[in-house]
Amino acid sequence: MSGPVFNRIAVIGLGLIGSSLVRATRASGAAKTIVGTARSEKTRQRVVELGILDEVMETAGDAVKGADLVIICVPVQATGAIAESIAPHLADGAIVTDVGSVKQSVVRDVEPHIPQGRFFVGGHPVAGTEYSGPDAGFAELFQDRWCILTPSEKSSPEAVEKLSAFWRTLGSNVEVMAPDHHDLVLAITSHIPHLIAYNIVGTVADLETDTRSKVIQYSASGFRDFTRIAASDPTMWRDIFLANREAVLEMLGRFSEDLAGLQRAIRRGEGDVLFDLFSRTRDIRRNIIEAGQETPEPDFGRGRPTSSSED
Ligand code: NAP
Repeated sequence: MSGPVFNRIAVIGLGLIGSSLVRATRASGAAKTIVGTARSEKTRQRVVELGILDEVMETAGDAVKGADLVIICVPVQATGAIAESIAPHLADGAIVTDVGSVKQSVVRDVEPHIPQGRFFVGGHPVAGTEYSGPDAGFAELFQDRWCILTPSEKSSPEAVEKLSAFWRTLGSNVEVMAPDHHDLVLAITSHIPHLIAYNIVGTVADLETDTRSKVIQYSASGFRDFTRIAASDPTMWRDIFLANREAVLEMLGRFSEDLAGLQRAIRRGEGDVLFDLFSRTRDIRRNIIEAGQETPEPDFGRGRPTSSSED
């Protein structure tokens, strides 16, 4: 364990990611004091019961007072309003960051509210599960996962450095990327896969009852893996697709072209086309395992809270 990177951190939004951050910060000693708040009385009350924070505040404005790091952990479309509400209360020199799964829209919505002498650096821990809320969080969520920081031209290099040190103390690997590049990469690695899962599970939901019951009976043949991803939080994913519309549509265009190619190969009986693609895709999985982002077990993560569905 290394010493505290920050004196006092304020976490706004205490769901899966916010409460995991709180737990990981405490477990690693990355900050001396951890305070936080959530929108609803129910969540604030639950966090008091869980005893994971030094103090639970009623408002975001109160939570950020005196904090040298503020982490916004709410759905991406709500981030700008939070930034506006905390702006007058931010301490001199405070660093503000977020954990949103889309970065260009967050930079656009947050940066105009950040007063002189306070610094915003966007962030995205590429770690998660399909569960939500304060009970779903756990301290090990970010261990050996990537956290992508997306500074803009206005972000100070010292703030990026300090935030990197914080995430490394939590056990993450840190990569710095431009916000638009982040959104393009995540569109194909996370957002399109989620869209495919939502679509295929939606197709099954619309099937006639007797066919649907057979699909559920034989779900272990592949469908089951899609249902785990398609069980992810609807608010969060609605916001992601709306906020990352352009990158998602661009990648979806490529995906649709490739799908049409596969459709043609099947219709024409071009087995070698199919075999060649399926061989290349195997190599990609092998590379992911070698990079430590997956284990070879076929049911990796299923039924365990450490499963990483994100994003
Ligand atoms: P979550 O478990 O649903 O928690 C969301 C938190 O945000 C809750 O505390 C909720 O408050 C609050 N909130 C929701 N809508 C709000 C609004 N309009 N205004 C203010 N507060 C609001 O969600 P999460 O999974 O932690 O996701 C939080 C962020 O992390 C999202 O931006 C998401 O893109 C990003 N992220 C998620 C994952 C993942 O796999 N889940 C991974 C990486 C990044 P109440 O509890 O009071 O309703």
